[in-house]
Formats: sequence, structure tokens, C-alpha cells
Amino acid sequence: MADVPEQLANIRGRIAAACAAAGRAVDEVTLVAVSKTFPAATVMLAVDAGQRVFGESRLQEAEPKLTELPPDLVWHFIGRVQSNKVRKILPLFPVVHGIDSARLAEHVDRIAGELGLTPRVFLQVNIGREASKGGFDPDEVLGALPGLQDLKHLRIEGLMCIPPAVEDPEDARPWFAAMRELRDSLRQRSGMALPALSMGMSHDFEQAILEGATHVRVGSAIFGERSYRVDGELG
Ligand SMILES: *Cc1c(COP(=O)(O)O)cnc(C)c1O
Repeated sequence: MADVPEQLANIRGRIAAACAAAGRAVDEVTLVAVSKTFPAATVMLAVDAGQRVFGESRLQEAEPKLTELPPDLVWHFIGRVQSNKVRKILPLFPVVHGIDSARLAEHVDRIAGELGLTPRVFLQVNIGREASKGGFDPDEVLGALPGLQDLKHLRIEGLMCIPPAVEDPEDARPWFAAMRELRDSLRQRSGMALPALSMGMSHDFEQAILEGATHVRVGSAIFGERSYRVDGELG
């Protein structure tokens, strides 16, 4: 089994080094420790090592796990958001990364209003325009923003992506740069703050930080290889 505290310390060190290389403050980057497929006892090793922010992809798996863990953790929902699960997702997850259409945003806003919640959300962008992946087309986000701004229960933090898979993490950098440029252009043209960029995983979080990531979602580099793939995983 992976030495979770040691791997967590290693990732924290690499995040700090990437921030230094980018001339950014280390507190600009939030490490979302992705604990999907790992049991509460393994997550607890990271909690004991000081980690507070975690990510899960599937409600069914997360629900029982969360009840076994301390209440002061901050859970990010990073999987595909099924409409019929939103009512259960929102009370458990104050942050939702996979808002992939205006229709879903409207639905989440309506349920949030009914529950009296104001989730922080990321708009997922299909930056590589891959047929296999969900998300807003990069050209369509701007047009969607005015409607999204009217959704009073959503706090739109920024953009999220899963770029096309590459062998060499340096090859992911142009996608991360494209995300930053898209965010900057949307910010300028919409007047929205859009402070956040959720991008970078175990394989490429350093490249993402160099290009402006504020949230990196790191799983296997902390907890070890997953023994199965989670359905509902974004992709
Ligand atoms: C599983 C997952 C991650 C973490 O992936 P690792 O390669 O294990 O770091 C990050 N983001 C999303 C959306 C995921 O589904």
C-alpha cells in the first residue's frame, strides 16, 4: 500500500516548487486530494497528515464514506453530475467541478435554491473538443455566460478541464495555456471575476500550475494506483 503521508508531503513539495517556478504564492493553489475508490481508513491517513480538501466522483461511493470521516473536511464533486443526483450531491459537496452545460447549470441552480444552498461551481470546458468528453465547447462559453450569471444560487468560480491524454506532461501545457487564455478573455468580455482554474492531475499538475491552475486534482500520486475505474468519472 502507498505511504500516504509521505506521498502527500511529496506532492505538497512539488506544488510549492511549481509555484516558486511560476512566481506564484503557494496559497494560490488548492490541492484537491482525489480519494475515489479508496476507503475511509486510507483517506484518514491524509486527514491525519493535515489534508482537508478532497474530491470524489461518484455519489454512491462517497455517501457512506463521508459519514465515516470528520465533518470539517471540504468535499469537491469532480465526477459527472447526473441530474437526478443533484439533490443529494449539493448538501455533501459545497464545490462542484463538472457543470458541463447551461441546462445542467439551470437545474443545479434550481435545486440549490430549494435547498437554500449556494454551491461554488466550475464550468467544465472540453478544451480539446474531444467527442468522448463532456463540457462546454470553448467557443460556446462566452455566449452562455449571460444566462449563467442570472443563476443566483450558483457561485461561478471559474473553469475546469480534463485535456486530451498525452504521454509527456509537457504536451498538456498548451491545453492548460489555452484554458488560461480562454478564462482571461471571458473575464474581460463578461466582467465576471472567474478567479479559478481547476486543471492538472497526478501526471501533469506541475505543468498546470505553471499555466495558472488554482485547483489541482491529484489522486493516484497520493493514494496509489486505483484498482478499478469509477463509472461516472469525467472523461
Ligand atoms: C480521478 C480523477 C482525478 C485524479 O486523477 P489522478 O490521475 O489519479 O490524479 C482528477 N480529476 C478527475 C475529474 C478525476 O475523475
